[in-house]
Amino acid sequence: MKNRHPKGLVVLFFTEMWERFSFYGMRAIFVLYMTRETMGQNPGMGWDNTEALALYGWYTMLVYVMAIPGGIIADRLLGQKKTVFLGGLLIIAGQFALAFNSHIAFYAGLVLLISGVGCLKPNISSMVGGLYREGDSRRDFGFTIFYIGINIGAMTAPLIVGYIGNVYNWHLGFALAGFGMLLGQVVYIWGQKYLKDVGNLVPVNKIEGTNKHVSLTKIEKDRIVVLLISFLIVIIFWAAYEQAGGLMNLYTEEKINRVVFGWEIPTAPFQFVPAFFVVVFGAPVAAYWHRRQRKGKETSALFKMALGIMITGSGFLMMSAAALQANTGMKAMLIFLILSYWLQVIGELSLSPVALSFITKLAPAKYSSIMMGVYFAATGLGNKVAGLVGQIAQKAGELEVFTGIFIFCVLFGLLLLVFFRKLKKLAHGAEDIKEEPLVEGEAQAVIES
Ligand code: GLN
Repeated sequence: MKNRHPKGLVVLFFTEMWERFSFYGMRAIFVLYMTRETMGQNPGMGWDNTEALALYGWYTMLVYVMAIPGGIIADRLLGQKKTVFLGGLLIIAGQFALAFNSHIAFYAGLVLLISGVGCLKPNISSMVGGLYREGDSRRDFGFTIFYIGINIGAMTAPLIVGYIGNVYNWHLGFALAGFGMLLGQVVYIWGQKYLKDVGNLVPVNKIEGTNKHVSLTKIEKDRIVVLLISFLIVIIFWAAYEQAGGLMNLYTEEKINRVVFGWEIPTAPFQFVPAFFVVVFGAPVAAYWHRRQRKGKETSALFKMALGIMITGSGFLMMSAAALQANTGMKAMLIFLILSYWLQVIGELSLSPVALSFITKLAPAKYSSIMMGVYFAATGLGNKVAGLVGQIAQKAGELEVFTGIFIFCVLFGLLLLVFFRKLKKLAHGAEDIKEEPLVEGEAQAVIES
């Protein structure tokens, strides 16, 4: 079975891969730069941990919350395609501002980055959906391919930018992140010929069946309700998943036996593991769902998301096992950590790219970018909650918190399974597959899945 995808997907894949390279590269050295002393070789800003983590928390939340204004700009002013371009420019300016050793440049750089990611991230995701017609069965798979690109960027950046920034010079690291985005922008400009019909501004009164005086139809309202409910799952999912950078990272440092063949692996490289698993297991998981769909079995987004959150939750059961072992006074086996990340990622692959795809199927045309913005804002909130959960664990104990996350995710998934048929009705067939033969000359086809 061969499924061809639109050429525009390659363009969006590489643009977003470089954007994420820039984003995760900067993120890898941000806290380290803030906390390094102001004197000595490769000096930093000399802040204490609490100050640095507070700014980091705000930053990681705001980049995603700004996706809402980014969506509004796209829907009302520029269209998704131009807003992505503007976002790219702002990110390049932001990263290069951080390349200067000055306080003003530092804050200006952060503001530029937050605005830039807010403009780029939701709209490039919406554009992926725009490559597929309504009812196209390849859409979910297309989003997984796009998601693999994200994670290639996320996987390589901390290694390269992290190394250069940490060992040589922080500002060189930030500049390198800027070059990453610059490459992304070059790919995007080059690829415009494959994106002619995607992401253009459609005046509200030209959208089929609507004019600016009509408010939303009943079907559109129902679909928005389903989307908002699915965003609740998204918040819980990211609150669990984003333990990787915080609590699980600290736990790996302190309580996991990292000695392999007599050598103790440092903690930081374990951050590479989830993104690596996404790259390796992305296609098999998407292929599994695609096969199920062809057999006519249940594959609605809500069903996948329910399973996804439960699988991710069971990853935390592995951490509970690690904590049980560590509580006896010895260090826990590394395999628990690896299995935990693996399960988390298998769950992620049934939830995160699926959610992106779901939004592009359900959001009413005139609010499509805004809904994507709200989705990313929900993920930002999830990130913030993740930080709070990590803090709670410092007092409540890791075993309790890991087990709590497991129970919460599984219960929430079960609840969703109980109600998913009702919720699916509210989607009014938005996910129905309508297979049509590809139209000749429609810029189809280069990558095969
Ligand atoms: N890890 C994914 C990315 O960086 C998803 C992030 C999110 O949705 N908050 O794109």
